Amino acid sequence: MRLLTTWLSLISIFLTGLVSCRPVRREASGPEVPTQLPRTARPMHYSISVVPDAATLRFTGSEAIDIEVLQPTDSITLNAAALEFQAVTLTDKANKNVEARTSVDADKQSATFKFPSVLSSGNYRLAINYTGAINLHATGLFALDYDSPEGRKRALFTQFEAPDARRFIPCWDEPNYRAPFDLRVTVPAGQEAIGNMPQSSRTQKPDGSSEIVFATTPSMSSYLLFLAVGEFDRITTMVAGTEIGVVTKKGDGEKGRWALEGAAQILPYYNNYFGVPYPLPKLDNIAGPGSSQFFGAMENWGAIFSFESLLLNDPAITSEERRQAIFKVAAHEMAHQWFGDLVTMAWWNDIWLNEGFASWMGSKATGVIHPEWDPLLVRIASRESAMNQDSLSTTHSIVQNITTVEQISQAFDAITYNKGQSVIVMLEDYVGENAWRQGVRDYIATYRFKNTVTDNLWNAVEHAAAKPVTAIAHDFTLQPGVPLIRVRTAECVDGNTKVTLHQEEFSRDTPKKEPLSWRVPVIASTLGGAEVRTLVTGGSGDLTVSGCEPLIINSGQTGYYRTLYPSPQLERLKGAYSKLKAADQIGLLADNWELGLAGYESAVTALDLIDAIPGEATDDLWSRATRILDETYDLYEADRPGQERVARYASAKLNPILKSLTWTAIPGEKPNDAVLRAELIGALGKFGDAEVVAEANRRYSTGDPSAVSGPLRTTILQLVALQADAARWEHLLDQAREQKKPLVRTALYRLLGGVRDTALAQRALELALADEAGPGNSSQIIGAVAVLHPDLVFDFALQHREKVESFVDVSSRSRYLPRLAWRSADPAMIEKLEDYAQRFMTPQSRKPADITISMIRDRIRVRQTRLPDITQWLAAHGS
Ligand SMILES: [Zn+2]
Repeated sequence: MRLLTTWLSLISIFLTGLVSCRPVRREASGPEVPTQLPRTARPMHYSISVVPDAATLRFTGSEAIDIEVLQPTDSITLNAAALEFQAVTLTDKANKNVEARTSVDADKQSATFKFPSVLSSGNYRLAINYTGAINLHATGLFALDYDSPEGRKRALFTQFEAPDARRFIPCWDEPNYRAPFDLRVTVPAGQEAIGNMPQSSRTQKPDGSSEIVFATTPSMSSYLLFLAVGEFDRITTMVAGTEIGVVTKKGDGEKGRWALEGAAQILPYYNNYFGVPYPLPKLDNIAGPGSSQFFGAMENWGAIFSFESLLLNDPAITSEERRQAIFKVAAHEMAHQWFGDLVTMAWWNDIWLNEGFASWMGSKATGVIHPEWDPLLVRIASRESAMNQDSLSTTHSIVQNITTVEQISQAFDAITYNKGQSVIVMLEDYVGENAWRQGVRDYIATYRFKNTVTDNLWNAVEHAAAKPVTAIAHDFTLQPGVPLIRVRTAECVDGNTKVTLHQEEFSRDTPKKEPLSWRVPVIASTLGGAEVRTLVTGGSGDLTVSGCEPLIINSGQTGYYRTLYPSPQLERLKGAYSKLKAADQIGLLADNWELGLAGYESAVTALDLIDAIPGEATDDLWSRATRILDETYDLYEADRPGQERVARYASAKLNPILKSLTWTAIPGEKPNDAVLRAELIGALGKFGDAEVVAEANRRYSTGDPSAVSGPLRTTILQLVALQADAARWEHLLDQAREQKKPLVRTALYRLLGGVRDTALAQRALELALADEAGPGNSSQIIGAVAVLHPDLVFDFALQHREKVESFVDVSSRSRYLPRLAWRSADPAMIEKLEDYAQRFMTPQSRKPADITISMIRDRIRVRQTRLPDITQWLAAHGS
């Protein structure tokens, strides 16, 4: 499924989705979902011909759908949105034609074709002539404009997930209606077209245009159909009988080389892992210039779409973090080619089957192919992002009830992606790597070219593992929330540690509520000792761990729960912190930071741990510590002395690490040294560290090569933009305007929104409103301003609501505005959001507002009740 944008994943708690505080036990969905199409007919095959007119942003389409009428009816209803119908004809087996009377329901995004008499069950052909719009944001068939050496260009792409194929073709736009697609398109002279399948023919017409016909796709869901039209380069390589390609705008082909080489490593790994070879003859990854507020890449079968910043490796601007991300995103999208495309969820309730699984599989492949990138931090960061959302009462279960298009859009959140991934990590560890893989192989073999519900996967794994995993899986996927494992007692008896555990629920906003119950697989060890496993069931568990060294629960950090130690155990762990395994160092730090903020223990335990980090710690641990200090700094927003205290402590702690890394890559350094270098410069610069700020400014104003091109460019420019005065901000704007490369241009425009000065932030909003950079970039500028000025941005967006909403696709609008207020700590914002939800949201779609409200309440609580102890701690530690 689509991959969240970086902006979204940074603001990882951006919570959306259906909320259900009680377990949702219903797995399957089907015709009983009221918004689904009537089950009277189904598509057997689509034949589509389109002629886009990029200049007028319109296209004409003609479509022939072979259908089966399942029960007698005098009408057929399918999905269509913003399409205009010219003629609809039904042909029966005897070749008799009848004209249909068409009526359109814009709210339901459907069209109904009514016939003069009742159709008996059987096969028919439905022929439809229609026209539609080419959008300027990434939905349906859409256009992306960019500069080239020959002037302004426009390329066309499609984005159909979740339910937007209906903006391109009238169709049964629900994932369980699979059918083969034949697609043909007429393209102007000099242009190329890319589809899911290879081209089977190309015919030039007298006017210079060409009709391109693609080979028939396998049976698949409508949301996976793809088309791109433009002036492209395509580089390819053959791997295991599959032609892998990267498609870019003309002139950029070689920038796709890094992604192409990555895909060539990933494909054989997946062919082997899934046990079913990649089923299409080719697999392209197509780069789109620009950006979208809501996604970065999309797994169309055989034709992955990625925005350029997640596909092109451009030495002018690509950081090490981004270079790794290009590989990771490809690994995620390629996993979907099996999990999502070959086997597809029956309905959006189970979207996590796509997203959680692809996130997990992509991380796993990355860890195998690039162990030097250390997938550990990513795994724990993913868990933390999920738990942040999952510990508020506005969370939802992984498997959820979805009825409206807004709810589908809202389902692409941290629970679906990150909790999904984290739960799979835990269950794979519980049944064992081999049994898990066998279960996955059986599942893929059984359900290929079919649709599934979540229990189909659990049954396959349970059968392969011969171990009862379904009950545990249900606990974690059908009910929301985060288990808390409290260590009740831990006593040294005859050289072993006897432990009793109690299961509660970790909650940031309703800690006293009756906890939900989970079966929790727990792994424990003492420092340096062997791991012992138990399943905490019915609220309690006990185990005996060999040795009496400090006790570690969730050893290896594969469990989806938080651990609360009694203070003697915690003190021993603090004392032994530098000796713990890297995973447990990071996990313990992350756990205790959140437990402290939530009020389960002292707010400063995590700071004690940061204070105990040895200089030679891993990049990943320093990275996690940097993030926590960054979050602490943000919690003191509008409290200058508070922020200065954090800054002084952080400088003392982190600046020596940056000094040891230096600003320039050291020959032979680890790749993650480069990632950490950028993170440290970014964080220290934000805290106002005098040395770092001066160095960034020096590099910028002297035109140092690192500020003009290379992996630190964005980091340096971010700092310059953050502190910009009017003259410097205008200078940055000139640079963005003059920039011809869309990849760099998009990054430069976004930087303009990251300014601290309020008047310039307002200026950035006006710049976005003028929409000179395109809707995708404009929505990103607004999102960037919202990080430091949420209240200003929300008021502004409300004042210009229609224009601002026009920058994002229709089904994503319900989560766009509320999300802008996410970082507010102003009680007045709660009222504003309530008012906004009342006026502009339906009861079914107001979840994003409720989530933002719960986050703001939580932020206010933390500032009032947790910061005083942190302030004292900082004062006692030299700040
Ligand atoms: Zn995905």
